[in-house]
Amino acid sequence: KNLVKSVATQEGELTILNGINMDVKHGESIAILGPSGSGKSTLLGLLAALDSPSSGEIILDGIAIQNLDEEKKAAMRKQKVSFIFQSFMLVDTLNALENVMLPAELAGISKAKEKAKAMLERVGLSHRLNHFPNQLSGGEQQRVAIARAFICEPKVLFADEPTGNLDAANSKKVADMLFELNRESSTTLVLVTHDLVLAKRCERQLLMDSGELSEARKKHLDATQPSVVKADSEPVKAE
Ligand code: ATP
Ligand code: MG
Repeated sequence: KNLVKSVATQEGELTILNGINMDVKHGESIAILGPSGSGKSTLLGLLAALDSPSSGEIILDGIAIQNLDEEKKAAMRKQKVSFIFQSFMLVDTLNALENVMLPAELAGISKAKEKAKAMLERVGLSHRLNHFPNQLSGGEQQRVAIARAFICEPKVLFADEPTGNLDAANSKKVADMLFELNRESSTTLVLVTHDLVLAKRCERQLLMDSGELSEARKKHLDATQPSVVKADSEPVKAE
């Protein structure tokens, strides 16, 4: 509600988000599109309580999370929220199984190892349990990240360009996984993406432009007008 994010810069105060209002229903899938630098990642960071707004409210499951102290915020994140990044963000020194187990162990969930194995099976990686991130392809790394994101059964999964570093075939695989988990576990999905194929699979599409959010129109989802949503640079293929 009325989310504002301003930061102090050398040039003075910079308003990144200019009074954002949005509602996300339980189990819904939402894509946030918009030009590079428009504030999409900043918004996602606020919604996932990774960062704090300058003003406004973020109500998750009935709780105004911007007022929570850091300890309660961390506990809330552990219980209810997961995040997937464009650059996967796996722990390099842990193998696939250990990466997926990690949040479950931190949350004190019993049978973390068994659960991690089951999650990796769901994302089609039973044969890669002992591989380290640098021994996995980009698509495989992102599927490990998805398994890790879902192991604690989050209410909401935030994903910032989850297919941004993947080729078309791997993007589809990763998107299939996300929507399967969305359907089966009613996990709410809030995705930031430049990928129109992924965006169109979501139930709703929102457009961020210069720190303001609106419902996306058909022209924004039309692949013949990619300049509206395209990043400055071409995605780098991880494979
Ligand atoms: P992209 O599609 O390229 O990822 P985005 O929509 O995710 O872009 P943000 O990362 O949210 O954009 O950034 C929005 C704007 O705010 C950018 O112009 C960025 O330079 C600026 N910005 C973000 N964080 C800070 C900060 N801590 N200090 C100063 N400026 C910032
Ligand atoms: Mg971004």
